[in-house]
Amino acid sequence: MEDTISSIATALGEGAVGIVRISGPNSLILADKMFFTKAGRSLSSYESRRMVYGHVKDEDNSIVDEALGVFMPGPHSYTGEDVVEIQCHGGIQSLKAILRLTFAKGARPAEPGEFTKRAYLNGRMDLAQAEAVMDIINARSEEALKLAIRQQKGQLSEEIRHIRGELKDVIVHLEAVIDYPEEDIEDVTFDEVKNCIITGLTAVKRLLSKAHTGKIMREGLLTAIVGRPNVGKSSLLNCLLREERAIVSAMPGTTRDVIQEQMLIEGIPLVLTDTAGIRKTDDFVESIGVEKTKEILAEAELAVVVLDGSEPLRIEDNELLSSIEAKEHVIIVNKGDLPCLIDSTALEAKFGAQNVLTLSVKTAEGVDGFVQWLKKFVYGSAGTVEKGIFVQNARHEKLLITTKESLEDALAAAEHRLPYDCIVIDLQNAINQLGAITGETLQDEIINEIFARFCLGK
Ligand code: GDP
Repeated sequence: MEDTISSIATALGEGAVGIVRISGPNSLILADKMFFTKAGRSLSSYESRRMVYGHVKDEDNSIVDEALGVFMPGPHSYTGEDVVEIQCHGGIQSLKAILRLTFAKGARPAEPGEFTKRAYLNGRMDLAQAEAVMDIINARSEEALKLAIRQQKGQLSEEIRHIRGELKDVIVHLEAVIDYPEEDIEDVTFDEVKNCIITGLTAVKRLLSKAHTGKIMREGLLTAIVGRPNVGKSSLLNCLLREERAIVSAMPGTTRDVIQEQMLIEGIPLVLTDTAGIRKTDDFVESIGVEKTKEILAEAELAVVVLDGSEPLRIEDNELLSSIEAKEHVIIVNKGDLPCLIDSTALEAKFGAQNVLTLSVKTAEGVDGFVQWLKKFVYGSAGTVEKGIFVQNARHEKLLITTKESLEDALAAAEHRLPYDCIVIDLQNAINQLGAITGETLQDEIINEIFARFCLGK
């Protein structure tokens, strides 16, 4: 039987309310030793799931804090075990004192993610759903939150189970043929098998095609806005900010001395390295060195090159343009309110017409075109996250890629009419990889590693 664990479940800071959560077989017994109503009643004397007002008292019977207590019996609790939550004042001292008391009464400090791990082990959710819990907590935008909630509700898991189920059926079919070779059904079987593999492969590819969006929603899109001084980079950013489509928040950069900012544009989290000087001040030195620009570009997933359309291209512009060819890119020809001295047709021929946008930050004309471009780049043709399953997790994406490879091998084996055993091996690999997403075919150590990355108290 599991032991009883406890932890502070709310963020450590000053807040109106803080929660200490206890889970395990002794939760209620333990709570009864420290939580009392005014009339001296304990939590166990009330019906379960009822919020009870009282006080947390220490060994000397002195009041630690005023609190609300609730008992949620397993299996219908978050962890699937007996859970008690004590809501007290949201100050660190009060929370810590109550937490210490739970330890004194026999609970053990919970490890990061241990509550959710127990939920997983008790079958309350599968691994993909458990991982989505952290994605919900870490969501960078409303859209990212929507995706994480859908995953937590089991949309991805359902699809994975469906694909696995179909592939398992194929194996059953093949094994029947292997076991009864005298039945002459080979041709039909090969076609059937091929079709089933293709169906599975298509479904996996569909999931993978949206992983790009999911990853961006989860981690942000590393974007470099580059261009010579005075082409209008910071004006462009400020314009986006003014339109109130964007929120900027500072975050520590991955490279030393470089500030990264997160900016939300229509729910798309852009992570910008501060090349453009969003918060440009008088003492901000304009020119970010060529070397630094290269460094920033190398890290970026998307290069936004800003050009000044009112001037002919300079050597620096051309150098910049040739350095981004191999990257995802969009070229902005700014100052469209002035006569254009850049040959946009040549740029379009080189970078794709859809990737060259002429606009004027000054008049705001065409700026929306850039927002639309971004939406298309991130969401694909759907243009939104409203529909479909978006794989958000790098672990899931990796597993889907190996699943795809195994299915392609299986398909090749079927096409070459290799012995059925060969097809079965590839299919079994695919099934195992899919199962690792939901946790059905994963070793304990890996599962432990996944939960160790969770936050404390979850
Ligand atoms: P950065 O050095 O690339 O960040 O460029 P800034 O944003 O500081 O802009 C340089 C100058 O160009 C400023 O004086 C802006 O007012 C001006 N500017 C920016 N965008 C436009 C535009 O669309 N049209 C015109 N006419 N001027 C612009």
